[in-house]
Amino acid sequence: MDNKQYSTRELFRRFAPYFKKYRFTLWMDLFCAALTTVCELVLPLIMRYITNEGLRDLASLSVKTILSLGVLYFGLRIVDCIASYYMSDMGHVMGAKIETDMRRDAYNHLQKLSNTYYNNTKVGQIMGRITNDLFDVTEFAHHCPEEFFIAGIKTVISFIILANINLPLTLMIFLCVPLMCGVCMILNFRMRSAFRKQRNQIGELNARIEDSLLGHKVVKAFTNEEVENVKFEKDNGTFLDIKKLTYRYMAAFNTTVKLFDGLMYLVVLVAGGIFMVNGRIAMVRGKIAAGDLVAYMLYVSTLIATIRRIIEFAEQFQRGMTGIERFLQIVDADIEIFDEPDAIELKDPKGEISFEKVSFEYPDDHNKVFTDLNLQIHAGEKVAIVGPSGGGKTTLCNLIPRFYDVSEGRILLDGQDIKHFTLKSLRGNIGIVQQDVYLFSGTIYENIAYGRPGASKEDVINAAKRAGAHEFIMGLKDGYDTYVGERGVKLSGGQKQRISIARVFLKNPPIIILDEATSALDNESEFAVAKSLGELSEGRTTLTIAHRLSSIRNSDRILVLTDDGIVEEGNHDQLMEQKGIYYQFYETANALK
Ligand code: ADP
Ligand code: MG
Repeated sequence: MDNKQYSTRELFRRFAPYFKKYRFTLWMDLFCAALTTVCELVLPLIMRYITNEGLRDLASLSVKTILSLGVLYFGLRIVDCIASYYMSDMGHVMGAKIETDMRRDAYNHLQKLSNTYYNNTKVGQIMGRITNDLFDVTEFAHHCPEEFFIAGIKTVISFIILANINLPLTLMIFLCVPLMCGVCMILNFRMRSAFRKQRNQIGELNARIEDSLLGHKVVKAFTNEEVENVKFEKDNGTFLDIKKLTYRYMAAFNTTVKLFDGLMYLVVLVAGGIFMVNGRIAMVRGKIAAGDLVAYMLYVSTLIATIRRIIEFAEQFQRGMTGIERFLQIVDADIEIFDEPDAIELKDPKGEISFEKVSFEYPDDHNKVFTDLNLQIHAGEKVAIVGPSGGGKTTLCNLIPRFYDVSEGRILLDGQDIKHFTLKSLRGNIGIVQQDVYLFSGTIYENIAYGRPGASKEDVINAAKRAGAHEFIMGLKDGYDTYVGERGVKLSGGQKQRISIARVFLKNPPIIILDEATSALDNESEFAVAKSLGELSEGRTTLTIAHRLSSIRNSDRILVLTDDGIVEEGNHDQLMEQKGIYYQFYETANALK
């Protein structure tokens, strides 16, 4: 997987469009944030007024004044509460909606990615990216604009108010801010790289767990539980190391902030105290009153609290950023196989396939499989391919539905390059039965109906009957509603294969590819499945790959595919007469019997 790193700017630029749909909520959220800030900033002003007035002339303060100030403050707090409620309810919902949108985009993109992508990516990593990594985005999406906004206005308003009371003292305090920001930025940057590593390692850990759990039968068969534990412990340990590093940066970060806020209090305490005692040192507007010092302390506390929140948010911010980055790494993965702009719908093809000078190498490994391969399959013809393992039979089959695109040359269907058809219509007209069947977790009925979503119950049962699956299904406890287990673990190989054939019957495509469909089966199920396959290929263009030669004897044409391309071609009798590779295969197979 491409682990491109994005700059903060790029991350923001790509993330911002997700707010578009929720503009109203966002503005309301910011408005509420502003309201809560104003409410918070009024308290020091009230305290300053009361203290200053009281010290100047206690008689000027009446209970009535204090009560009305109390009422004012109470009113502001009510507004504050309502605004806070909106922020934590609607703000969070907005974040969650954005998370959902992003997850949907990532998932839709994953559906379009090619085999090459999946061959090189661990499922555990993808899972982490579209679940956990996006959780943090919810918090981020809502808090990021809000926190920065609040911090911004608080700092500006505090500065204005404080500067009005005493400018030199204010400047002294605010001098600490840029210094602090500088140090924090450096530490923040380190924190991001640590979070990045942490995410990646948790993905690796997921992948490891998945691999080992899926292979639990092999683990047990070789009693390699210890080996698995050791492998797991290694990854688990690496994760701990990375976490330790993250916490070290976080500790450094928090300590720095503590240091700086100590420094700010110190400035107010010492410089402010001196200004109060000795008015002459204060250059502007003379002496500081006691009430001013109280207000100062309160404002500095607010300021520090703000900075603290930003600091706490820094962690969330970096988590969110890495989450977005890992999300972008998915949605930016190249779609290698796509519809051409002028692609047309493939409708009721006759099923004539021809390979013209096709060369192919796997895009990731540059594993050259074919050079200049020519092949003609007539409409309705039954062609079989035999050849040594690794000769490229499966690869050849994968090129027809465009699971991979040819490197050179072209493949024609009914005389048209397959790239001219939409992928959906091309693949919709090809039925594939492979050696390893994938059944989705669900019932037998659901798995057959997968062949044509929306098919009627009658059609599904009919397909099962034609695939020779109906009888064994009816013998199961719950019939068609039997739960097949994850990947169909509760069924035998032959049963799974017949279900996969029923799926293709239901799909009813004019072109059929059978890639070693019966190889994994015992003799008895092979016989049953072969019968179903024979029925399936009736009247359709069929490409069969089989290493058991008995099942292809009746093919119209047999091709022998080796590393040198197609080296022999003809029907069974012709090839036997040639006494070439096919003849040898056949003899060896018979000798083994
Ligand atoms: P066959 O089906 O005839 O046994 P394949 O078509 O599966 O052979 O493989 C042909 C060659 O392509 C082999 O050398 C194999 O190693 C290579 N190959 C198969 N799949 C891939 C892949 N996904 N990526 C890279 N190389 C592959
Ligand atoms: Mg194969």
